[in-house]
Amino acid sequence: MAFRPMVGLEVHAQLLTASKMFCSCPVAFGSNPNSNCCPVCTGMPGSLPVPNRKAVQFVIKTGLALGCKVSDYCRFYRKNYFYPDLAKNFQISQYDEPLTYEGHIDLAVNGEPFSIRVRRTHLEEDTGKNLHLSDGRSLVEYNRCGVPLMEVVTEPDFTSADQVREYLVQLRRLLRYLGVSTANMEEGAMRCEPTVNLVDEETGQATPIVEIKNLASFKAVHDAVSYEIDRQHWCLENDAEMQQETRRWNETEAKTTVMRTKESADDYMYFPEPDLVPLTPEREWVEEIAQSLPELPLVRERRFVEEYGLPQYDAEVLTEDKQVADYFEAVAATCGDPKSASNWVMGDFTHLLHESGQSPDTCKLRPEDLGKLIKLINDTTISSKIAKDIFPTLFEQGTDPQQLIEEQGLAQISDEDELSAIVDAAIEANPKAVADYQGGKEKALGAMVGYVMKETRGQANPGLVNQILREKLSE
Ligand SMILES: [Zn+2]
Repeated sequence: MAFRPMVGLEVHAQLLTASKMFCSCPVAFGSNPNSNCCPVCTGMPGSLPVPNRKAVQFVIKTGLALGCKVSDYCRFYRKNYFYPDLAKNFQISQYDEPLTYEGHIDLAVNGEPFSIRVRRTHLEEDTGKNLHLSDGRSLVEYNRCGVPLMEVVTEPDFTSADQVREYLVQLRRLLRYLGVSTANMEEGAMRCEPTVNLVDEETGQATPIVEIKNLASFKAVHDAVSYEIDRQHWCLENDAEMQQETRRWNETEAKTTVMRTKESADDYMYFPEPDLVPLTPEREWVEEIAQSLPELPLVRERRFVEEYGLPQYDAEVLTEDKQVADYFEAVAATCGDPKSASNWVMGDFTHLLHESGQSPDTCKLRPEDLGKLIKLINDTTISSKIAKDIFPTLFEQGTDPQQLIEEQGLAQISDEDELSAIVDAAIEANPKAVADYQGGKEKALGAMVGYVMKETRGQANPGLVNQILREKLSE
């Protein structure tokens, strides 16, 4: 079959600003219904919107990170439609003059590189929410009305559901890195709508474009796109009728169903918002934002592999969260042992972080102290067993590991005379093991090493104990 899938994506992300897009109402979740509202966000006659500078900055920042150009001049438009959750009967959005445009992102699935063009990254406001009760009543909640929303639109460059999922994973990571959105799909802070059709590149023949709504997870997006590609292939093979429409993803039945035939832009009667002046971001400001961009996650991931020699898996996990990546780098810089730093950060550290509900920036243990702990293991001051034992205390109190080890007398015993005496006792107490060992059973040594460890509360230097034991037993 000569038809190949053409998938495009629209992603909406709620921006992490303190106030709403065009008024000073707080953006806060979990507040009482309709308590974060004012005449502006509920569209009372005579109220006037004022754009949120931070939201504009966040969209420019994201656009720049996606390689987009930033408009010198662009306007807000009114998108007109009636719906109960939209008190104004129009949504302020952007139309043919987006704030940023023409970017791209390079990705890979299973080692196969692909590039996606970003058509635009623009700014709009969120709507409220309708709640339909089981008794037939409907309630409207306006707290979300006017929350700044960024829309990232790609060209229809995806050719598979796997590519779509990879893009979403990377976009979520990017938005979190930039600190512009929580990008939590479960909480509705990131929502996406794919468009799917098939095209025969030789003849230019194409199936009508279908938009899919109601997607609440990456898995749902992947499954819905994959289903829709198959459905359109089936329609082509069976000469079934197809039309431009919006379909809804039904997760339980794992299929898309018709929601409505597609409306065109004309239906919304877009026109420039008369209450707002055009946006004209100054060049110096845009340059300042560009300078403030952090190292982007994909670039950082590659650097972790090259610079620290970490396995790809470690690099991916560590760069998932900017704070974790920063923490890791500080630990590695202190101890000079990147792989151990990676193991500790991904293992015990992350475990306690999740358990205590903290973040790398709020927890008491400073990365320099974790680095010191690793150094103490590497120079055999303490065993890794002792390090693991004291780690929860270090994490909880944020103490200097050197100090804790001295206070609790946990330093590894590497004094030969001291160990020699305990080894003598171990030999004395284990006549059978001695006989077995001398009879050729190498493993019998374990019983005597165990004895020494027990006597020293795990503090004996195991390498040294082994060495002394062997010397004594071969005498
Ligand atoms: Zn308001």
